[in-house]
Amino acid sequence: DSVSSPIEMFFFPFVGGGHQIPMIDMARMFASHGVISTVISTPKYAPSFRESIVRDQRSGHSISIEILCSTDAADISDANMSATPVTDTSMLEVPLKKLLLQRRPDCIVHDMFHHWAADAIDNLELDVPRIVFNGNGCFASCVRENVSSFKPHETVNSKYEPFVVPGLVDRIELTRSQLPAFPFVADIMQKSKENCYGVVVNSFYELEPAYVEQFKEHNKAWIVGPVSLYNQNIADKADRGKKAAIDEQSILNWLNSKPSNSVLFISFGSVSRLAQEQINEIAHGLQASNQPFIWVIRDVFRGERTEFFSGFEEKMKESKQGLIINGWAPQLLILEHGSVGGFMTHCGWNSTLEGVTCGVPMITWPISAEQFYNEKLVTDVLKIGVRVGSLDWLSWNVEPRASVGRDAVEAAVKRLMGGGREGAEMRNKARVIGEMAKKAVEGGGSSYENAVALINELKDRRRMNGRH
Ligand code: UDP
Repeated sequence: DSVSSPIEMFFFPFVGGGHQIPMIDMARMFASHGVISTVISTPKYAPSFRESIVRDQRSGHSISIEILCSTDAADISDANMSATPVTDTSMLEVPLKKLLLQRRPDCIVHDMFHHWAADAIDNLELDVPRIVFNGNGCFASCVRENVSSFKPHETVNSKYEPFVVPGLVDRIELTRSQLPAFPFVADIMQKSKENCYGVVVNSFYELEPAYVEQFKEHNKAWIVGPVSLYNQNIADKADRGKKAAIDEQSILNWLNSKPSNSVLFISFGSVSRLAQEQINEIAHGLQASNQPFIWVIRDVFRGERTEFFSGFEEKMKESKQGLIINGWAPQLLILEHGSVGGFMTHCGWNSTLEGVTCGVPMITWPISAEQFYNEKLVTDVLKIGVRVGSLDWLSWNVEPRASVGRDAVEAAVKRLMGGGREGAEMRNKARVIGEMAKKAVEGGGSSYENAVALINELKDRRRMNGRH
């Protein structure tokens, strides 16, 4: 009957990159629990994940894509951090409302960056619970909330003077130079959360129990990750988010040729760009460390590359010390390979959680947004990473400079990968946390049960409202 027919959930990711990827995984996760999942996208963005949805459909899951067309939808560009940190997607309001009126799902999960959706959906008075996807973990969210009430810009004089974030279980120090530089992004997130039914978080309880509890004091929340674990076949892992610039067999062959835990994987995510000067410093540091590595460099740098760098690339190819991927990398496939023993990351939340899930310790190199907070989780709370030492937002589109020198790069690589005790301890700890991550999404695990709890709550609402 109608009461027992499957729950229908809409997922409305923000366009592209690090926001879209986890939301698609989350839609697939709920579909694996028997939910009818619908991912809302646009003509430009849907192709990047259509194949994974088709694979899920073939394996019997109820998941599909609904494309919103508006005159401008096809032109929504990737969030360009130099112009504006949050792309305006409000032209999707009319088609979104139309879809909601037609289909009346049991709930809609939308990215916190679609702030306009809060009013648009609430004003429809459809009684469709609106759940916000908070792209960060609970630790970063707690830090954000506590920093904003502490007002460091009024209370701390110097940009580089460390202050202790109040109200946290752990002693966490930050500097003003590490705080997100765009206050209106906080306003956007606040707007999304006002009057929302709840928040879903891509994390797992055992990773940050104190912060999950603290976050739940102010938020109705379901902690349902790591959602990257719902990519089980090679195709899902290889082309997640975008078609990879290297085929899976070449990368696996290269990795198979290296000893276990020897390879450092280096990536700065889908948005950040480093200056060529900085890239050259990393190259010098890597070469001096002698450590095998896979380094993802987004093709935006190609035009700027120097003679030194071309020589470096050639040398690495010959010596087989390093593999450079120009473009999109099959990150999950790499991180979970036994030869990978470290991850130099910009600490975007997805990358951080993927590193954790694969049991890989990190070299932290935050660049912007909440990445400095995620670094603290890795280095000070979990103690599974070493800092490379970046102190400041790197205005990568404005100033062509290197903020971290070759010696610091080499030192961090040696500390984590050089065979010392500290690195080994971090690797062991990371492995244990990775095992907890996998348990969390299995039947009876914390995240699994959180997902089931949300579904059951939606069923109860339906029963009470006598809808459908
Ligand atoms: N990613 C990938 N290949 C790449 C770069 C990124 O698969 O070459 C994925 C990565 O696995 C992660 C996401 O893109 O899921 C990046 O999200 P994150 O939060 O780490 O950083 P952002 O790109 O949002 O700064």
